[in-house]
Amino acid sequence: MGGVAERVGALVPQLVDDLKALTAIPSIAFPGFPQEEVVRAHDTVVGHLRDVGVTDISSIDLPDTSPVILARVPGPPGAPTVLLYAHYDVQPAGDESQWTHPPFEPVEIDGVVYGRGVADDKSNLMAHIGALRYYEGRPPVNLTIVFEGQEEWGSPLDTYPPQAPELFACDAMVIADTGNIRPGVPTFTTALRGDAELTVEVRTLPEPKHSGLYGGPAPDALLALLAALATLHDDAGRPAVDGLRADEWTGAQPMDEAAYREAVGAADGVPLLGSGTIADRLWAGPAITVVGIDAPQVDGAVLAVVPYARALVNIRVHPQQSAAEAQEAVARHLEAVRPFGIELTVARNDAGDGFSAATDGPAYAAASAAMATAWGAEPIRIGSGGAIPLVSGLHAAVPQAEILMFGAEDSLCNLHAPNERLVVDELRRTVIAMVEFFDAFGRPDAH
Ligand SMILES: [Zn+2]
Repeated sequence: MGGVAERVGALVPQLVDDLKALTAIPSIAFPGFPQEEVVRAHDTVVGHLRDVGVTDISSIDLPDTSPVILARVPGPPGAPTVLLYAHYDVQPAGDESQWTHPPFEPVEIDGVVYGRGVADDKSNLMAHIGALRYYEGRPPVNLTIVFEGQEEWGSPLDTYPPQAPELFACDAMVIADTGNIRPGVPTFTTALRGDAELTVEVRTLPEPKHSGLYGGPAPDALLALLAALATLHDDAGRPAVDGLRADEWTGAQPMDEAAYREAVGAADGVPLLGSGTIADRLWAGPAITVVGIDAPQVDGAVLAVVPYARALVNIRVHPQQSAAEAQEAVARHLEAVRPFGIELTVARNDAGDGFSAATDGPAYAAASAAMATAWGAEPIRIGSGGAIPLVSGLHAAVPQAEILMFGAEDSLCNLHAPNERLVVDELRRTVIAMVEFFDAFGRPDAH
């Protein structure tokens, strides 16, 4: 075991140099950013695969998408197959004045590298490359490598796997687009909430009407919309819609109310909504959020009854409830409330299922032991309030494969925010965990 840590340690300086070089490429797949940079990151990653002896490299070409790298690395005969996922595109830098160093000129300070995408998700991509380098391209399991180039901006890959399940066939997947709750605490993400949207519309009159001449009896569309939205929660701020699943979270409880307050910046005296632990509410409970309203602006508003208003409602769904079912429950609730007798129109928009990982299979057991070795502590289980839609697509395509979510990021790494950073020691330990996992899972009695 010491041998693994020592040999991985020897690989780390080059791995970090290569991570910095990859981070220096602004591979942003959003519209309006140069596509050549995404292609440059793609070519760099393919180069790393070739250099470590991978020859079976192809791509999945989906419409309007940067190429998805698909590579296969054979293991010994009879070995199980592990699918490795990461993405080489990154979020835009946002307001660069908030960065202490230029986002695409990565710097290393005291064992921490700063730069856009250095954690999400280039660290995890390089962790996979690091494991391949450890084995000099000859791992003890068969590997199917899927490196995506448009994760951060609406990828068609999310829904593609069920159309070509044979491409993704495997016994276990390491979806490395997450990481530890904090550096030093090995963490599996085992639950992802689903996500659905609704647009609620109210039209009461053809046009605005003078609030003095007509106000009173005139049906106020904005008031009707607000009255309807106000029925979505009870007095304690719990979702008050029948048919939404809520449970107690059975994994780790890493955040108490004080820590949550600090994380969101809620002052003392500002109440938090809902009940149960923070983990119950974030990972095993629904959330309904009004994320936008179309109504006249206050500046320049005329004194008139508003004839039309609409709102966008975002629903976060228990990991094991169908997102479409939860969406339907909220839609029916809004259709039934009829404030003042006024009918609302509810459009059902996107709905993406969440995911709940099995934790009783051989891959989870092997990875759990590998994480314990790599970090010197037993791994914990957390959920994620955010979605990783591809996970649902892969699960639908290969339902019997175990899905493992761990990686080199950590939840304090400022992903999608200024000053994104990676703790180099987390990368080192992630490579150790991958290697220990492949070694254990590849043993004939382990799968
Ligand atoms: Zn990511």
